[in-house]
Amino acid sequence: MALLDLVVLPDPVLRTVSKPVERFDAQLARFADDMFETMYKAPGIGLAAIQVGEPLRMLVIDLAKKDEPREPHVFINPEIRAFGDAPSVYEEGCLSIPDYYADVERPANVTVTYRDLSGAEKTIEADGLMATCLQHEIDHLNGVLFVDHISRLKREMVVRKFKKLAKERGGTRITV
Ligand code: ZN
Repeated sequence: MALLDLVVLPDPVLRTVSKPVERFDAQLARFADDMFETMYKAPGIGLAAIQVGEPLRMLVIDLAKKDEPREPHVFINPEIRAFGDAPSVYEEGCLSIPDYYADVERPANVTVTYRDLSGAEKTIEADGLMATCLQHEIDHLNGVLFVDHISRLKREMVVRKFKKLAKERGGTRITV
């Protein structure tokens, strides 16, 4: 397994619309392992492939708490099929926008179809943190960031801050 480099705001790669996965092979399984390792190390609870520079419609999630056994989930070519009516609010963060958190309102329930690593079709009816996390990560596959769901003023502030940081670093990518 290998740690992958995280792509960080304001890298325009984050605005890429990712392409469906077509080959369900050993290489894909290895890539999923690397995504998990990178996510656990960060640490985070979700990671989309584009956040490590791969424009593939694929994401990993593990909502287990620190003292609980790991619960790795891989979602390939996920599609939101239905939203519930009730909203929920979580304070969200993102490995591509380090140390920034904001309340985001999203539907509290979603039905998502996806494929697993073997290519088998699956459906999940998610609520709570899983519903929010899935929507946050699926947004990444469409080039959308959680800061797109907050006020324009707040978003411009955070983008400006990250542009300034990138300028000071002389680059836009960091390795953690
Ligand atoms: Zn994110």
